[in-house]
Amino acid sequence: MIHLSNVSRHFRRGPDVIKALDRVTLEIQAGRFVALMGPSGSGKSTLLNILSGIDRADEGEVEVAGQRLTGLSEDELAVWRARHVGLVFQFYNLMPVLSACENVELPLLLTDLSRPERRRRAELALEVVGLMRERFEHLPGALSGGEQQRVAIARAIVTDPDLIVADEPTGDLDARSADQVLALLSELNREFEKTIVLVTHDPRALRWVQAIYHLDKGSLLEGVEATRATQAVEQTLGVPPRSAAR
Ligand code: ADP
Ligand code: MG
Repeated sequence: MIHLSNVSRHFRRGPDVIKALDRVTLEIQAGRFVALMGPSGSGKSTLLNILSGIDRADEGEVEVAGQRLTGLSEDELAVWRARHVGLVFQFYNLMPVLSACENVELPLLLTDLSRPERRRRAELALEVVGLMRERFEHLPGALSGGEQQRVAIARAIVTDPDLIVADEPTGDLDARSADQVLALLSELNREFEKTIVLVTHDPRALRWVQAIYHLDKGSLLEGVEATRATQAVEQTLGVPPRSAAR
């Protein structure tokens, strides 16, 4: 599903060049639910943005869902993204003046579906994420953080994408809502066969994901280093060690 080969992304800050990603090579198979962890500033969001076609690599090859992204124009990237990727963010990024259901319908405005059909699909997505029906017409401001993140996840799945990328989706939630969001992502992976890449600081995510990748200063940890980093996360959670992603 995801093939990155020697991907680098550099940002210029005054006279300095920041290597946000430094020759990252990574393969994630379809149907996997994986976590991407690492300290703040290690390049996690940059990597997610590149594999979801929001940002571009300066060097290297990026192929996602059967498409080589490196050769696409901005417009082509936007079309590809709308069809293949669902995005979930820490702060939900819902439109405050639109109801829950209208927020979920938004990505469908880019399709030629009829209005009733858009509505039907949005309601179905809200049912999948378990939002209570009487909340469908509520504005985001009238919903709890956990409910808002459910709405955001419904918006991410309403186009039936192959890939869901979630950047710290539990970062602003209490423990109970965070567990519910992780359980929901896991269900989307198991029941709907979505490939999911989850950026998280939350060790509880380990209970749900199949592998962890660790970024440090723009590089992926490998081998013994990766195993140690995974074990360190597991120790904070108190679950038995498992093999690292790579
Ligand atoms: P993380 O998500 O792991 O916290 P990021 O991917 O956001 O890390 O950032 C990695 C590094 O790249 C950081 O040093 C950050 O300041 C820098 N960076 C990210 N985006 C930009 C940008 N648009 N312009 C300049 N520097 C950036
Ligand atoms: Mg980030």
